[in-house]
Amino acid sequence: MRAFAFQRSVSIEDAIAQHGTESESAFLAGGTTLIDLVKLDVMRPERVVDINRVPLAQIERLSDGRMKIGALVRNSDLAWHADVQRDYPVLSQAILSGASAQIRNMATTAGNLMQRTRCPYFRDNLSPCNKRDPGSGCAAIDGVNRAHAVLGTSEQCIATYPGDFAQALIALDAMVEIVGPSGSHTLPFEKLHRLPGATPQLETTLAAHELISGFAIAGRWPRSVFLKARDRQSYEFALASAAVALDLQDGVVRDARLALGGLATVPWRAREAEAMLNGARFDDALAERAADAALAAAIPRKHNAFKIALGKRVVARAIRQAAAMEI
Ligand code: SF4
Repeated sequence: MRAFAFQRSVSIEDAIAQHGTESESAFLAGGTTLIDLVKLDVMRPERVVDINRVPLAQIERLSDGRMKIGALVRNSDLAWHADVQRDYPVLSQAILSGASAQIRNMATTAGNLMQRTRCPYFRDNLSPCNKRDPGSGCAAIDGVNRAHAVLGTSEQCIATYPGDFAQALIALDAMVEIVGPSGSHTLPFEKLHRLPGATPQLETTLAAHELISGFAIAGRWPRSVFLKARDRQSYEFALASAAVALDLQDGVVRDARLALGGLATVPWRAREAEAMLNGARFDDALAERAADAALAAAIPRKHNAFKIALGKRVVARAIRQAAAMEI
């Protein structure tokens, strides 16, 4: 492992200032991704800024009804929070479907969102990989690509976004709060991640030395579901997942939000499927049509065509489960 400078910060301002002292800096929260990748020599920070003592670990209900979630809330604390389980089951289910109990106890909400792809070529440090070493090529396109993406790909990168929590935030129309050297701002969460295009090494829209400080969710979405298909039932990444939030009144879909995981290079908002659901009278056939729309733009590679059929089934089932909830 390469040597790096280590700094412990107790305030956001100090953390951002310390991060800005090197061009290659990393914030350390739970460390469940960063430490692995530093050991593998895939990430090579010159400075690591430990932010665990920065006071961003609160879950609050604001006076206007929004739920505010701090960036350093541990995944377990969020998943088991009574208000989250009651008002945002999709969020709790998404977190509990990921990793192991031990990792969820360490990992933070913002760190979860910033986790890097599980593409094996990215992690082996020997194969060509445009994300790790821009311009070197992509070993996955003609290699083993069973787990890779079918949506949002480019000829430079087909790596799958690995997380679950992000899809739930999209289904809840969450906002992300960002702090940086030039102040703070908020952004619709779905605008945080970037498609790979010609620059797969750039994964988010965060500017240099910016830090996620938290998230805000408006309203309550008790009719919401996260469903995940994977090779084994626990401690495994998604082959296909769906986060669904529905407002269903008298059999008619008043509002639908749908995000896909395991299928795309970024947490994927399925706008075409949402448009098909919104305003329609719900029945099982509608769920099937929405699932077809969600995967209509999918492009299969040599080993991952099965994901299109699997993704459609996961999406349709998640929509049906959400519609059938008794709330
Ligand atoms: Fe690298 Fe992306 Fe290709 Fe994987 S899919 S080898 S992460 S460029």
